[in-house]
Amino acid sequence: MSETGRSTGIHIPGWAERVADSLGAGPHVVVSGISVSGNIHAGNLREVLVAEAVANALRQRGEEVRFIFHADTIDPLRKIAPGIPQSYEEFIGHSLSHIPDPEGCHVSYAEHFLVPFEEALLEMGMDIEVLRSHDLYERGVYTDVTREAIEHTDGLREILQEVTNRKMPEHWSPYLPRASSGKLIGRRVLEHLPEQTSVVFADEDGFEEAANYSKGEGKLGWRVELAARWKALGITFEPFGKDHTSRGGSTDTADRMSSEVFHYPVPGRYEYEWIGLKGRGDMSSSRGIVLLPKDLLEIMPPDAVRRIILGRDPARRFDIDLEGGFPRFMDEYRAEAGEPYVPFTHLVTVAQTVGEDPDAAAEMLRRGGYGEAARDTDKLAQDLYYARNWAAEWAPESMRLGLLDQAESEEAAAGLDDEQRAYLREVSGKLQAEMDGEAVQDVLYSTAIERGLKPKRAFAAVYRVLLGKSSGPKAGPFIAGLTLDQARERLSV
Ligand SMILES: [Zn+2]
Repeated sequence: MSETGRSTGIHIPGWAERVADSLGAGPHVVVSGISVSGNIHAGNLREVLVAEAVANALRQRGEEVRFIFHADTIDPLRKIAPGIPQSYEEFIGHSLSHIPDPEGCHVSYAEHFLVPFEEALLEMGMDIEVLRSHDLYERGVYTDVTREAIEHTDGLREILQEVTNRKMPEHWSPYLPRASSGKLIGRRVLEHLPEQTSVVFADEDGFEEAANYSKGEGKLGWRVELAARWKALGITFEPFGKDHTSRGGSTDTADRMSSEVFHYPVPGRYEYEWIGLKGRGDMSSSRGIVLLPKDLLEIMPPDAVRRIILGRDPARRFDIDLEGGFPRFMDEYRAEAGEPYVPFTHLVTVAQTVGEDPDAAAEMLRRGGYGEAARDTDKLAQDLYYARNWAAEWAPESMRLGLLDQAESEEAAAGLDDEQRAYLREVSGKLQAEMDGEAVQDVLYSTAIERGLKPKRAFAAVYRVLLGKSSGPKAGPFIAGLTLDQARERLSV
């Protein structure tokens, strides 16, 4: 996108406008919260992008907006995610922020999964604050709401029992203190000492321990924490996926806890649907179907990521297609920006033919009739990077190509008959440096007709000596993109 495209304003989708309209006057605090128990995949990005669109809609109306990503770093490890060593069983129940990085590259398990996601948000130019829940507890941000929750244990338990239709254990507590073993323990809080902001509890072996809740020595249970953090952070809007908004789900309990116990108005809400990956199903870290935001940023610019992840309506489920349908998506995206662009399939051909040489790519594009789009060399280099990565990772086999070198080309020509060889030699003699794609296409076609060779066999011969395949991109523009020497060397069989 050009400088002007950026500065004339961010595109605000209609649904985000309508949500912003429903929220009333600010200041606003928009939050998106995600677990860091495993890879934070591109499906999770949908929630952040929904929140971002609403934050932007509010900002555009002149509202003061704080936009927060709440990483649930203090949450306990519940199960061993794919790729995590089985020895991590011993950390089940420990805070993710207190567990070592399984690969040893970050300060904790939580950071290992959070940092790449945070980097992707930064790369997307997102105006967002990333907060870590263990840090919020340690800094005392949740101290008042934790005290309030413990004081209202009975009321909270009643709401949980009514909404979930499950009986809570006798010593149920909204607060999970961290035992000296490292485990968060929920069921045996014995005494609350509000002046010392601490609780006395029985650990796994029945020994009494104390935990100071103003210092991050424990956390609120997930359902209570949801309502408590709305109040502590002054949240006015939060999107939720369908797993939370189902009947008896966490928003049902949090809504009642918020209004009846914390006396805080329930924030505005948007329910988004999942996205899947075409041909592979819903994205899910636990099932190992993982596409990371950085994988997307390797094949398209940030605004295209926003567009493909949100779709037309994030309240509807859909599968993103990064394979055969992707070139069309990119062309639609470029066309909407209203600038000259090179069709993505052509970029893919160029990128695979010239490798990483942007000058050769610009030359190939000029000869192919895309001179204007090739003028900005920085942008061209970036576009070639996307196209090359896409070709390597996602392109259907029919779109993967590499220009054969001369020896490979001679070898490939061995499978051709005399008619095909004679045809290629004649074409080679007719090619001229100044010919554009259409002129070359014309030579290829008319020469075949003149020689009485079926065009299908003629073109098969062309693809065979250039690419070692029986088909490929439109031959005329492809050959016009090569230098005359490159083309002649391969056609003179
Ligand atoms: Zn790491």
